[in-house]
Amino acid sequence: MNHTNNTDSFHTTKYGTMSQHRKYEPYSDKEDSIPIGSLNVLSAKYESLDYEVVENYIYRDEERKKGYKFVVKKNFARWVTFFWIGLFTATIGIIIDISIEVISTFKFDHVKKSIDNCSQNNCLWRPYLMLLAFNIVPVFIGSILVAYVEPVALGSGIPQVKCYLNGVKIPRLVRIKTLFVKVIGVITTVVGGMCGGKEGPMIHAGAVVAAGISQGKSTTFNVDFGAFSYFREDHEKRDFVSGGAAAGVAAAFGSPVGGVLFSLEEGASFWNQGLTSRIFFASMISTFTLNSVLSAYHGHPGELTFWGLLNFGKFTDFALSYTMFELPIFVCMGIFGGLTGALFCHLNYRLTVFRMRTLISPWKKVLEAVFVCAFTATIGFSLSLWQNDCKPIGLDPTRVPVQLNCNDGEYSSMASLWLQIPEASVRSFFHDPAGSFDISTLVLFALTYYFLSIWSYGLSVSAGLFIPMLVTGAAWGRLIGIAVQSIYPDLDVGRYALIGAACQLGGVVRMTISLTIILIEATGDITFGLPLMICLLTAKWIGDYFTESIYDIHIQLSGIPLMAWDPPPLSSNIYASEVMSHPATVFKSKETVGKIVDTLKKYTYNGFPVVDDIYVTESEEGNYKPNGRLRGLILRSQLIVLLQNKVFNEALDAWDNVTPTTFRHDYPRYSKIENIEVLDSERNYTVDLLRFMNPSPYVVQHMASLPRIFRLFRAMGLRHIVVVNDSNEVVGVVTRKDLTRYREWRHRGQIGVVELKVSAKL
Ligand code: ATP
Ligand code: MG
Repeated sequence: MNHTNNTDSFHTTKYGTMSQHRKYEPYSDKEDSIPIGSLNVLSAKYESLDYEVVENYIYRDEERKKGYKFVVKKNFARWVTFFWIGLFTATIGIIIDISIEVISTFKFDHVKKSIDNCSQNNCLWRPYLMLLAFNIVPVFIGSILVAYVEPVALGSGIPQVKCYLNGVKIPRLVRIKTLFVKVIGVITTVVGGMCGGKEGPMIHAGAVVAAGISQGKSTTFNVDFGAFSYFREDHEKRDFVSGGAAAGVAAAFGSPVGGVLFSLEEGASFWNQGLTSRIFFASMISTFTLNSVLSAYHGHPGELTFWGLLNFGKFTDFALSYTMFELPIFVCMGIFGGLTGALFCHLNYRLTVFRMRTLISPWKKVLEAVFVCAFTATIGFSLSLWQNDCKPIGLDPTRVPVQLNCNDGEYSSMASLWLQIPEASVRSFFHDPAGSFDISTLVLFALTYYFLSIWSYGLSVSAGLFIPMLVTGAAWGRLIGIAVQSIYPDLDVGRYALIGAACQLGGVVRMTISLTIILIEATGDITFGLPLMICLLTAKWIGDYFTESIYDIHIQLSGIPLMAWDPPPLSSNIYASEVMSHPATVFKSKETVGKIVDTLKKYTYNGFPVVDDIYVTESEEGNYKPNGRLRGLILRSQLIVLLQNKVFNEALDAWDNVTPTTFRHDYPRYSKIENIEVLDSERNYTVDLLRFMNPSPYVVQHMASLPRIFRLFRAMGLRHIVVVNDSNEVVGVVTRKDLTRYREWRHRGQIGVVELKVSAKL
């Protein structure tokens, strides 16, 4: 199992010298070293995206005919598309923001009125029941939508978008239906008072918008506008989606640079210079649109004061002017954030495994979501009653100061925290003057919110993790601020709340560069960059020591074959001949229709090497002996299109109609081979694959090492690599999924590489 202990051995075959093919045992259920238990397997249901451009004969022909004018047109269309992506993403942000504001204002006003009436008359059960109803109804609707209509809209969507940008096709991720469910889901979750934010889902929303606009068609509505058909390929689509994700971040946090960096840090496994400026453009448009519309909505048209959905409020210069002696305190807070973050990830992982095993049917998921919602409301209400933290009105800028059990002219600070949207609580922690919260209030609030957030993440509702983490961190950060202030009275507790919020969030999501910039842009003060950087890095290092980030844990649990940034360490003694599948299923360059249909029905593979016919002989199982010389690689989708359009050598007129547009027409969902009708008389016809295949696929020698193949896949965004022997004969195929099976494995000081199982069931 541990590759590091293996010694190399070679054997000579008719293909040349090959390293011995080693068999690896996948993890068994019993082993205690399994990081993710028996669920540490990859799912076979996720297919890969392909960054390769198939430069075949018809592609070159099209390029030659269209000329340079087309290049300019396409480039211009890209910029226009990015403009619309920015605009639409911001529009969605605006819709979400205004809906949440209107509905929650209505809710909190009514609950407050009822509380005010009942505090004297001993009928507090009335506002409690009212709050329960106000919370449960929307959450019920939202979770029904997520559980029954579109489960892929669950959570923030960041892990899934990350996987998409990494090169994994997540079914239904970027459909309009998903977007609808997501938008309604987010509104209902936040309005329902659950521990969730509206920011993370904006990234998913941006991704859907980008995919929709750039493809000029919608599967949900079954319409095809025919526009931008030249963008219908994985390569272009993925570029747009990374722009959409960036625009989503930009709208959510008012952070255009943070958006670009988010796509760079978390997302795109493939990047180029041109993409940077286009993504930046989309982010800028998105921030600007959101800012101008929301500023106008809030009564300051033209002032552009409303940056992002997440508004930290304005910090004073005094609040952010830190001194040297505080830096070690920030580092300690980073360590604490890393520890609590790791604990968060671990507990949530355990909970998710439990959910995957027991809460399988959708109604159970809905029930759990409604239960957590009711529980959250009950806890919030009970704490507000129980904790008599009365402060004079005027200290707190909350919109609805709730009097509850306090005297006239006072309000209960605990009740105000629970009876406002979490963003407002973050602002309270950041900006309320010293003394607005008792220490016990902060301790109780931070603890309950922390555990409620652990429970809420992964429920069948759409909501993000950013806000719950910021609220929790801001609460304990403020607590530390109060402690420091008791020694050095001359400082502002708000900045400790900010650092606490950053540490807590960083400890859970483990983003560094993008999160620093997002927070700098959200606070609007560059001078506070250094403390943020220090604490985010510390939180990441400490957290990484114990667990992976919450997103990576959820990705692993869903069995998505995510490609790591780097090859597993100490793996250069693993060779292509061990990673590859062999014998490869190949086609001759001039292949019969019958053979193509049978092969496509028999295997699920998406790519087939094309070999020279001359040396090919057929084995007993119907496979060709893999001794043909490599000519190219043909994709299943291409073969399907060829069969559908009957592009056979014997049907000469079919040839004229085949252009790259024919292949793009059905993208990204091609027919199944079972649905393609081939007459018996056509089975002996032949197809000339040479004209349509990719004539120069990426190829490695059988002796190429795993890290080398890994880098090729990573850098080029590939889906298949053909393995050849010394005489350029095909001996095997390596797919992206084959590589993602090899994972770093650490246990009790040992490091090695392990090969995961692939399960068709997951
Ligand atoms: P993907 O599903 O990632 O879009 P794919 O379907 O072509 O691409 P996999 O699903 O990874 O490839 O293939 C499953 C297994 O089959 C892998 O181990 C792979 O090496 C192997 N395989 C893929 N194509 C061929 C082929 N043409 N001949 C033999 N084995 C293959
Ligand atoms: Mg496959």
